Amino acid sequence: MSETPRPGRLSTPATAPYWQAAARGRLLLQQCLHCGHTQLYPRTLCVRCWSEDLGWQESAGEGAVKTFTVIEVPGHPAWRAEVPYAIALVELDEGPCLLAGILGPDPYDVAVGLRVRFVADSGGDPAGPIPFFVRDGS
Ligand SMILES: [Zn+2]
Repeated sequence: MSETPRPGRLSTPATAPYWQAAARGRLLLQQCLHCGHTQLYPRTLCVRCWSEDLGWQESAGEGAVKTFTVIEVPGHPAWRAEVPYAIALVELDEGPCLLAGILGPDPYDVAVGLRVRFVADSGGDPAGPIPFFVRDGS
């Protein structure tokens, strides 16, 4: 684990329920109570109809890698000890996409279309769990 503190999470009134659920191992999606649109990341209004009447639904946490990269030179020194690692845009089966790390022994095994499932893992961060994905079946 790195000795450099990691950048903090950005928790706002709109995102706090998301981060609190992630810390308990749950993945929440924001759902518009007016038009039914499901979105992620959390916002103060629906991006489809602009309603501020928003609620939460729990994601099944399953999806597929839409695109990815393997980080060999981290953008922050706190992750220097973690390289190489995979970061992917995962399209959840419910529709929204989430950018998150893919845990596993070989980051070069990640591929477009790879089925993954959500896990909450600290990834070595003393601040606690955040969303990650692992290969389906692992
Ligand atoms: Zn809406």
